[in-house]
Amino acid sequence: MTTAGAVSTLDRVLERYEPVIGLEVHGQLLTRSKMFCGCSADYIGSPPNSNTCPVCLGLPGVLPVMNRVAIEYTVRTALALNCEIPEHSKFDRKNYFYPDLPKGYQISQYDMPMSQHGHLDFVVGGEPVRCGITRVHLEEDTGTLQHAGDILQQARSSLVDLNRAGVPLMEIVGEPDLRSPEQAREYLVRLRQILVYIGVNDGNLEQGSFRCDANISLRSRGDSSLGVKVEVKNMNSFRAVQRALEFEIVRQGRLLDHGQEISQETRGWVEAKGATISQRSKEYAHDYRYFPEPDLPPLHLTADFVTQVRAGLPELPEQLVERLQRAHGLSAYDAAIITAEREDARSFEALVAVGIPAKAAVNWLMGEVARLSRETRTPLPASGLGVAGLAALITLVESGAISGSTAKELLEELYLPGGDPAAAVRERGLAQVSDQGELSAIVDSVIADNAATVADFRGGKEQALQRLVGGVMKATRGRADARLVNQLLRERLSG
Ligand SMILES: [Zn+2]
Repeated sequence: MTTAGAVSTLDRVLERYEPVIGLEVHGQLLTRSKMFCGCSADYIGSPPNSNTCPVCLGLPGVLPVMNRVAIEYTVRTALALNCEIPEHSKFDRKNYFYPDLPKGYQISQYDMPMSQHGHLDFVVGGEPVRCGITRVHLEEDTGTLQHAGDILQQARSSLVDLNRAGVPLMEIVGEPDLRSPEQAREYLVRLRQILVYIGVNDGNLEQGSFRCDANISLRSRGDSSLGVKVEVKNMNSFRAVQRALEFEIVRQGRLLDHGQEISQETRGWVEAKGATISQRSKEYAHDYRYFPEPDLPPLHLTADFVTQVRAGLPELPEQLVERLQRAHGLSAYDAAIITAEREDARSFEALVAVGIPAKAAVNWLMGEVARLSRETRTPLPASGLGVAGLAALITLVESGAISGSTAKELLEELYLPGGDPAAAVRERGLAQVSDQGELSAIVDSVIADNAATVADFRGGKEQALQRLVGGVMKATRGRADARLVNQLLRERLSG
């Protein structure tokens, strides 16, 4: 919980110490099959241990075969993050025992990764930040364990599911260039956005297809040496990353203030406690006894292959923001929110392509549609109404055929089941009442029935007029043309 007291404690620690933060992100690649075998990489919808074979179960005598698409996706990611792609790289075995790793080793990349020396630029609080990308490499995911208990180590038994074992996993190692929890959070938001844009990852933190470990140490302000770092795991939201880092800053700051040593260790974030707890002492690279994977040939990525992947790179978020601002005159703010999710930007472009004004498209997508999408857990393109239905609906409002409130009701009603908004308006007589004669009669009767409110307005209470507009809206079930009603009321009451 972020209480005022906790914040000021954090601020006091930050006056004396500078945090040094580096993030390691693991992202599952959106390939159809696993990294080294032909099993389906879809591990969520299938019964436990059904998508497995001798290769991903690590049975003796089997040989892995590289997934070409996974290699291409990793190179695509590396290029989007401004990395160099060495011509020669290789896979290595990272040896360790854990029940979710049946082979007893993970195929990963150690000293010759597929890419290195990149960077990611973003802005926090108006200040540009550049975070170096040490490397983007490729490895395989492990299986999953279901503990009959929780992280506080009260589980009495665990079940293993190996559907995830062998799913292609990209590791994106960032340089320790981040200096605040806010910078760490923004780095992750931008990184996730890029991966989703280039179509290599679904960016789902909750399900763990995009996950992050953070390394954090403190040093006295003005000091250039590095302190002892602590690795924090088990954060499954951007907010959790920020909170966990804030917690660590306060915890480490207190230890340093008391002259105590920080121990190099791995800690897990426990959401329910709002705290990190010690899990194990940090392992070092030499603990893993890395050696070159003998069952796979070294990778040779030719300049031609890299050029081809670069040429196929989709538009990146930054480029799209610029293009939308240029082409549709969007403000920087509108362009940023409409491009935060690739899907929203696509819907936006589809709407303006059929003639919806840019501002109206942004307002509908980011307002009512975003709310319905959240509440029904159904994004617009997957809804019954779809982008075409929304376009039809906005056209009705923009042309004055229906009122804004009728449009909102129709949107809510048609969002999941779908349907033709224009037909619904005809069938149910929802068309906006803009006929002056018809509205005049209603305005007169509302004035006659609300003498006190009329007196208020005449006495100078401007807000009283809105109560009268509300009365007309009620009488027409929201179908009255609000601008005309305002005008008619003022005309009548000015006499
Ligand atoms: Zn398999």
